[in-house]
Amino acid sequence: TAQSKPSVRPAIHAPTGTELSCRGWHQEAALRMLMNNLDPDVAERPEDLIVYGGTGRAARNWACYDAIVATLKRLADDETLLIQSGKPVGVFRTHEAAPRVLIANSNLVPRWGNWDEFRDLEDRGLTMYGQMTAGSWIYIGSQGIVQGTYETFAEVARQHFGGTLKGTLTVTAGLGGMGGAQPLAVTMNDGHCIAVEVDPWRIQRRVETGYCDVRADSLDEALQLIDQADGPLSVGLLGNIADVMPALLERGLVPDIITDQTSAHDLRQGYIPTGYSLEAAAALRESDPKAYDDKVLDSMVTHVRAILDLQDKGAVCFDYGNNLRGQVKDFRNMPEAFDFPGFVPAYIRPLFCRGAGPFRWAALSGDPGDIRITDETILELFPEKAALHRWIEKAQEKIHFQGLPARICWLEYGERAKAGLAFNRLVREGKVKAPIVIGRDHLDTGSVASPNRETEAMADGSDAIADWPLLNAMLNTACGASWVSLHHGGGVGIGYSQHAGMVCVADGTELADERLERVLTADPGSGVMRHADAGYDEAVTTANERGVDLPMVNG
Ligand code: NAD
Repeated sequence: TAQSKPSVRPAIHAPTGTELSCRGWHQEAALRMLMNNLDPDVAERPEDLIVYGGTGRAARNWACYDAIVATLKRLADDETLLIQSGKPVGVFRTHEAAPRVLIANSNLVPRWGNWDEFRDLEDRGLTMYGQMTAGSWIYIGSQGIVQGTYETFAEVARQHFGGTLKGTLTVTAGLGGMGGAQPLAVTMNDGHCIAVEVDPWRIQRRVETGYCDVRADSLDEALQLIDQADGPLSVGLLGNIADVMPALLERGLVPDIITDQTSAHDLRQGYIPTGYSLEAAAALRESDPKAYDDKVLDSMVTHVRAILDLQDKGAVCFDYGNNLRGQVKDFRNMPEAFDFPGFVPAYIRPLFCRGAGPFRWAALSGDPGDIRITDETILELFPEKAALHRWIEKAQEKIHFQGLPARICWLEYGERAKAGLAFNRLVREGKVKAPIVIGRDHLDTGSVASPNRETEAMADGSDAIADWPLLNAMLNTACGASWVSLHHGGGVGIGYSQHAGMVCVADGTELADERLERVLTADPGSGVMRHADAGYDEAVTTANERGVDLPMVNG
C-alpha cells in the first residue's frame, strides 16, 4: 500500500558538501532535494513519506523511494528518469541539456478526477498525492510560504489598513507546513495574530522554530496575551477553529482580518471536526469514513457561516487557498461561501501579471554562509526594490533554516533570469561552496490552473482552462530545466487543479548559463502570456515593455 514501510528507518538527511554520490550535479541535486523533503526538520510526517499539505508525499512508498535513490545514483548525464506518481518507472536516453527527471503526479482522466476514485487507486498502490512541491522535490519548509504570506498580508495592510497591520488582530487556523508561516508573516507586518490549531505538537513545533511566539490553551488566555503585548505578538491557540470562530461572534469580537489554512482541501484527512480529539477523529475516520466526512462538513459549515457573519460586521476576510469555500459550496450547497474572496484575485494577481512569483533556491553545500552570499547578490542586483530589501533583511533575522539552507523571494519576469545567471557565476567563481538549486512553488504566474484559487475569477472567464500548466511544463522541458513535474490536485485537492513545477541547477558551467537563462525567462514569461491572453492590461504592458512575443497581443 502507499504506506508500506519497514518498521524502523533512520532519519533522512540530504548529503552536503561537494562530494558527489551521483554521476552529475543535476542528478545529485534531485537526490539531495528528495532527501531534504523527507528530513525530519523539513517534513511534517517523514515516517509516512509525507512532506506537507495533508498527505503530500515525496515518493509512493519506501520501496519506490529506495529505487528512486538507487536510480538517481546510476543515472548518466544523457539519461532521463521518469516518475509516475512517486514511482520510478523508466530511464530513457535523452541528451545532456534535457531534464534528468520528469515527474507526473496524481493525474487522473478528468471524469475520474475526484477523491473517491483517487483514494481507491491510492489504496491499491497505483498513485500518490503529490501536493505541489512535495512530489516535485523542492519543498523548503515553512520559509517557502512565508514570503508569499508576508506579501499577501502586506497587500492586505496596503489595501485596508494604511500600509501596516500595527494594532490589528488576525484570526486564522492551521499551523501545519504552510499554515505555520501565518503568525510570523503577520508579526513581520507588525500585527497581532491568533492562529487556532487542534494539534499541540504543531503549535510546539512552530514556537520552537520561531514561527509563532507563544501558546495559549483558551481564547481568554490568547486575548489577554495580545492585550498585554507591547509589540506585535502571535499566539498559537490550542482549539478547534469551528468552535473559536463562533465564540468570537458570540462575544461580539470582530477580528480585523480572518483567513484559514487548515487542510480543508482534504475532507478525510485535513480538517478535524468539532467535538473530536485527534485520536477520536482518527478512530471514526477509520471505522466510518462517510460519517466522518459528514461531521467534517458540519464543522466547515459552522466555520464558514461565522466567517460570513464576521465579514458582515466589518472583518476583512479571504480564503487562503485551501478550498474551504469549495467544500461547503459543493457538498453542502452553500454557494454564498464565495461571498468572501480568494486571496489570489484579491491580492496576488497584479503580481502574476508582471511575471512575479515565488523564486526559491537552496545551497547544496549545506552551508548557511552560501545563502548569506546569495542574499547579498540579490540585494546588489535589485537596489531599487525596497520591499525586497526589507524582506531579505527580516528573513535573515527571523527565519530559521530547516534542512538545507534556502531562501525565497518573489521576482518578476526578467529578474529571475538575471538572478539565476548571477548565482551560476557565484558557483563558477567559487564564491559559494557548491552548486545552487533554483526552483519555485507550483503556485506561480504561468504554472497553474485552479479555479478556486490561482485562476479564480479570471478576467475572461478562463478559470478552468488547464492548457496553460501543460504548456508551461512542456516549455520548461524544452528549455532544459533539471527536473520538471506535472501534477493534479495540489493545494485545493483532487479534481480542482492542474499545475506544473520546475527546478534548475546552477552548477557553474556554461551549459548551466544557457539552460538557466532559457528556463528562468520562459517560465515566468508563460505567466505574462497567460495573463495577457486573459486581457489583463498590466500583463500586456509587461509583455510590450519587456519584449515577450505574443502573436495575438503584440505580434
Ligand atoms: P497541513 O496538513 O500540514 O496542516 C494543516 C493543519 O490544520 C494541521 O496542523 C491540523 O492539525 C490543523 N487543523 C485541522 N483541522 C483543524 C481545525 N478544525 N481547527 C484547527 N486546526 C485544524 O497543511 P499545510 O501544508 O499547512 O497547508 C494548509 C492548507 O493550505 C492546505 O489546504 C494547502 O493545500 C493550502 N495551501 C495554501 C497555500 C497558499 O499559498 N495559501 C500554499 C500551499 C498550500
